[in-house]
Amino acid sequence: MADPLVRVENLVKYFPVYERGILLRRKVGDVHAVDGISLQVGRGETMGLVGESGCGKTTAGKVILALEEPDSGKVYFEGKDVYETLIKGTQDDKRYLRRNMQMVFQNPYGSLDPRMTVFDIVSEPFVIHKNIPTSEWTERVYKLLKMVGLEEYHAERYPHEFSGGQRQRISIARALATDPKFVIADEPVSSLDVSVRAQVLNLLEELQNREGISFLYISHDLSSVRQISQHVAVMYLGEVFEYAPTDRVFEKPLNPYTIALLSAVPVPDPLRKINRIILPGDVPSPVNPPGGCRFHPRCPYATDICSQQKPALRELEPGHFVACHHAEKFL
Ligand code: ATP
Repeated sequence: MADPLVRVENLVKYFPVYERGILLRRKVGDVHAVDGISLQVGRGETMGLVGESGCGKTTAGKVILALEEPDSGKVYFEGKDVYETLIKGTQDDKRYLRRNMQMVFQNPYGSLDPRMTVFDIVSEPFVIHKNIPTSEWTERVYKLLKMVGLEEYHAERYPHEFSGGQRQRISIARALATDPKFVIADEPVSSLDVSVRAQVLNLLEELQNREGISFLYISHDLSSVRQISQHVAVMYLGEVFEYAPTDRVFEKPLNPYTIALLSAVPVPDPLRKINRIILPGDVPSPVNPPGGCRFHPRCPYATDICSQQKPALRELEPGHFVACHHAEKFL
């Protein structure tokens, strides 16, 4: 991808695990939450990040936005090293990054302060970033509310006076208040009623098309990922297993884990027979992930090499990357 907006290289984030001893806690291992992921998000495009619960999607999002510090690896925004800038950059450089990289959280109930009006919530970033003169705040807040499909009179209300879908719109308006180029939306519709999910997804799609905002859309719901993403990265136990343009992943997945994941997606056609692949066993613990390919204990195609050697992420077709020793089988 020529000149991506965001480039992530070999990002690693572990969380220590402690055991309570007689006197002190002692470290007994690490949760391998994110274990060397690399990906790129192009300008004005949406990248879907999918995988089962606990595979490290949220942690990856937080580390990319510098809300959590990585153990190693790099994140570049417009070619600039994000962590280096946040440590050594000028105040202007830091502010520029913070303004342009925003996050929308999963739970619109917990992420909005119940004591603040919508006006205060949406204008809070103006206070922090000092980017808009006070005299323009009202106009800007109204514009943002309109952008996400809310009305001016909503500004004086409190979060409890809104439905779940409307609250998520408020969260999105707040994330857009700094006019960001990149937004991470972490499961933005999973706590919403099915009927409002489509509305919020359409809104994200519209913002991408109309405002040119790039999104990293984190979800375990493959159908919504397919609807709004141009690229998809599939994660398993902290690693990226497959990464390609959305159509390629959905039409011709090349990793057995992606194939199994896709086989679980409901198809709205009663005549079409679905071959559901039931994977044996549970997702292994991220504390001591299996050696070699992390998926090998559950993979129907695993051979000796899979338990011995970690597969590299290889480009099997232009732009289609797969981490599997046997991926050629599915070409
Ligand atoms: P979900 O879809 O359920 O939100 P996820 O794919 O977003 O899951 P993460 O929330 O990133 O997964 O968690 C990845 C792993 O890291 C999990 O095993 C989780 O228990 C662990 N983890 C996440 N945050 C912390 C933390 N602050 N301290 C310790 N372990 C953590």
